[in-house]
Amino acid sequence: MTASFPDLKDKRVLVTGSTMGIGLATAQAFARQGARVGLNGRKAPQHVDDILAGMHANGGQAAFFAADLSSSDGCAQLIDAFVARFGGIDVLINNAGGLVGRKPLEAIDDAFFDAVTDLNMRSVLMTTRFALPHLRESAKRSGQTASVISVGSIAGHTGGGPGASLYGASKAWLHNIHKNWVDFHTAEGIRFNIVSPGTVDTAFHADKTEEVRQRISASIPMGRFGKAEEMAPAFLFFASHVCSGYVTGQILDVNGGQYMP
Ligand code: NAD
Repeated sequence: MTASFPDLKDKRVLVTGSTMGIGLATAQAFARQGARVGLNGRKAPQHVDDILAGMHANGGQAAFFAADLSSSDGCAQLIDAFVARFGGIDVLINNAGGLVGRKPLEAIDDAFFDAVTDLNMRSVLMTTRFALPHLRESAKRSGQTASVISVGSIAGHTGGGPGASLYGASKAWLHNIHKNWVDFHTAEGIRFNIVSPGTVDTAFHADKTEEVRQRISASIPMGRFGKAEEMAPAFLFFASHVCSGYVTGQILDVNGGQYMP
């Protein structure tokens, strides 16, 4: 059964880092609502044409935009390309992110610091910065709020697992910077919310053995990893002005009870 958010039809929704995992499942969920959706990754995934055709067949419009969001230029190019294709932005989903690698404190060098913070912090800040005029315009034109939804993490609450201190801190930074954006951009009709996943079964966990996976599953009240598709409805809720027009500055933890702030 598909959740129904009729006001998302025709909304222009950009989902960063959406070639697979949570981003792709979310982009597909928006397409099912009839939205106009931008997919992004450093390069096009295999079968990109099939993915786009599936999204069209399900009632949406979709296009892929290659851009490496670790650089500010990449963020600017992505926004320009999306706006050139769809004429504006109503919803920005800052999903691109990842561990980069695992390094304990004593192994962290400048290159690793830059790589983790560029991917998880710079990308979100710069993409949001370049999207801002378009989000303002969306709110002004439609009389409804525009929406920025960033992907946080359980690691932003807990500090992260082995070798993931910088990643966890980057997500906590994200949880925090949204509060500032709420204070200074709500008057412009833009809402800022965070979806904070627990442990979700994607390529993110490709480095884990079966034994580790079972240990993690046992620590989750639901007894299993989440699925990417189970994250998507939280984004639909935050994007929908009808459902969440008075909700801003919030973190929605979607984690099977793994962590309760
Ligand atoms: P994933 O590895 O399956 O997907 C990551 C996506 O980001 C891919 O589409 C990839 O192409 C894209 N990407 C990576 N580097 C990029 C770059 N420089 N520029 C543009 N795109 C880039 O991971 P996922 O599990 O779907 O993670 C999605 C988000 O959820 C990330 O922000 C991650 O930190 C967060 N998250 C994941 C989990 C989890 O357990 N899987 C938990 C908490 C938070």
